[in-house]
Amino acid sequence: MSLKARLLDRIATGGPLTVADYMAEALLNPEYGYYTTRTPFGTKGDFITAPEMSQMFGEVIGLCLAQSWMDQGAPSTFTLAELGPGRGTLMADALRATARVPGFLAAAQIVLVEVSPTLRDRQAETLEGYEVTWIDSAADLPDGPLWCVANEFFDALPIRQFIRDGKSWRERCVGVQQDMLGFGLAPQGPQPRLDNRLADTADGDLVETCPAADAILSELAQRIDTHGGIGLIIDYGDWRSLGDTLQAVRDHQPVGVLDAPGTADLTAHVDFEALAASAAPAAHTRLTPQGVFLERLGITQRAQALAGTLEGEALKLHIAAHRRLTHPDEMGNLFKVLGLYPATAAPPPGLSA
Ligand code: SAH
Repeated sequence: MSLKARLLDRIATGGPLTVADYMAEALLNPEYGYYTTRTPFGTKGDFITAPEMSQMFGEVIGLCLAQSWMDQGAPSTFTLAELGPGRGTLMADALRATARVPGFLAAAQIVLVEVSPTLRDRQAETLEGYEVTWIDSAADLPDGPLWCVANEFFDALPIRQFIRDGKSWRERCVGVQQDMLGFGLAPQGPQPRLDNRLADTADGDLVETCPAADAILSELAQRIDTHGGIGLIIDYGDWRSLGDTLQAVRDHQPVGVLDAPGTADLTAHVDFEALAASAAPAAHTRLTPQGVFLERLGITQRAQALAGTLEGEALKLHIAAHRRLTHPDEMGNLFKVLGLYPATAAPPPGLSA
């Protein structure tokens, strides 16, 4: 039985699902979920992420984490965490790049937040030789200093969608229409969480919320503010989202969101304003384009140094990867970075208050 058939059955007996329930099933169902069953990243996978494009991405992020660790007095033990590490490439590049920072790796306890058993295996292979702990949820992170990074993690968390109807909202749901999955609307109801959106929306507008993201951000922010550390959140999105941003991608092509759950990646834009609102008591940085952040961290000098060791096709690919990561017409502006840091400390390198 396919996941689609299971969901049709479930809806027939239990009624429509919220978009968040649908997304959680499609991505993380223990038997059929997209992340539970595959390793989707890379040129051969369904989509390619920044760390898979070039080792430089993880390297400069590693150095950013290490520099801020020194700036905050180099605590003798801390958690070095990544949320949603994919194939483990970013962490591997960060660890290699920081190996020569005195004391950094000796003080670091590497913790990966990952729910997919398939991807945990892949991460273990990539990080062979390092001592790594896996946890399911950010709530299980140790209660101590925390240096952490999340690249394209928040966009995979389940969102809810609401359509404005007068001064209240109707939630968008997934139901059954003529034996197919289809979108519908729940009855009207007040949504106090969306009061702030009454000012910038009109009747019929769609807004999205991501309760899981808000909760995870609070977990990170509380540890960082109390014990020190930083959080780097890198994702596709903007300061405030308006409209339907839910999308499905298979084999580098957009496909229908409800077509074949479990076989395509589902993501939604990250609403960084909502994340920032959950950052208290920690401070958050200005939202910064990925290209600007990477340039400030010295990616171009690193690119030039690496270019000296390459030639032919490898050199061409390297130059193209640098451009894709940084250029405003490519990922440079589409992806944004938000930093978390203790209210009493300096913002992370590459970001500003
Ligand atoms: N950071 C990686 C992969 C991004 S894809 C990269 O840049 O290449 C999203 C990752 O988050 C996957 O590893 C996926 O399994 C994980 N993930 C998705 N939802 C999750 C959740 N609720 N809790 C923990 N991990 C999750």
